[in-house]
Amino acid sequence: MSSVTVRVPAKVNVQLSVGPLREDGYHDLVNVFHAVSIFDEVVAKESEGITVQVNGKWSDQVPTDDSNLAIRAARALAKHAGRSYGAELVIHKSIPVAGGMAGGSADAAGALVACNELWGLGLPMDDLMEIAGDLGSDVPFSLIGGTAVGTGRGEQLSELPTGGTFHWVFALANGGLSTASVYAECDRLRAASDADVPWPTLNDSLMEALGTGDAYALGTHLSNDLQPAALNLRPELAPTLESGRQHGALGAIVSGSGPTCAFLAIDATHARDLAHSLTTTGTAHTAVAAHGPVHGATLI
Ligand code: ATP
Repeated sequence: MSSVTVRVPAKVNVQLSVGPLREDGYHDLVNVFHAVSIFDEVVAKESEGITVQVNGKWSDQVPTDDSNLAIRAARALAKHAGRSYGAELVIHKSIPVAGGMAGGSADAAGALVACNELWGLGLPMDDLMEIAGDLGSDVPFSLIGGTAVGTGRGEQLSELPTGGTFHWVFALANGGLSTASVYAECDRLRAASDADVPWPTLNDSLMEALGTGDAYALGTHLSNDLQPAALNLRPELAPTLESGRQHGALGAIVSGSGPTCAFLAIDATHARDLAHSLTTTGTAHTAVAAHGPVHGATLI
């Protein structure tokens, strides 16, 4: 096989509960991931070494050296297989960079699936999941997609059944936010407030809303413990969230560590209208309608 293409979705966290800071610097999380129809494409072609090129709107913000997560994934896969394979990776980027939608993790998952195929390794999903977990806590979810709850650092995953398709609008900001800086701000705000940080637990009402496909109920139970920190770092996101609510969003939330804002719509038509309103009123730089859940990294 000389060229393989894989499509990988972005994610939004419909619940992100962040426990107290652990001694190892991580937090225990309850993280309900939901894969949505904004996709990066990762193409892998036969080549001597492992290289990456990035195309698309956000390409200038993505490193093409060995720190690129897709390169790291391909190298980890070759190491796992015990041989020095080569691949020229080309990423067509649509997922915002440093936007809280796991774009880098998506590319890593895409590279794992693409190189597994290109190199004819035939490794089972369990092996890819193990390699993915070592690459980053969001990478295993990008492989499976759908809706899933992650515990621990987010990497211990259980798939969740959903009772239908949910329609979303994502307001993309100019410039990203680093995940580490948002967690640091969250810790700083918590230390300053002196309030007890509860152990994170899964919201049963949210699970029920997902299971029955009830968008109205899901909208009221969306939650993100990183939101106060993201809003402190980017105060201009608060009016964006408010504008979405005023235009009838069933729920409005910062996606993961931000700065992308996610709005739950009633249906596909409402999502299109909401995206249009957010951009024409100038509240959002770009707004994109999408749906979920969708499959994880998929060969096309
Ligand atoms: P998350 O939601 O998982 O916290 P994010 O969506 O906020 O992550 P990413 O788009 O994954 O953030 O990018 C985080 C950083 O990773 C970027 O600033 C970029 O420098 C680096 N990076 C490395 N490889 C990639 C890649 N293939 N695509 C995007 N960013 C990458």
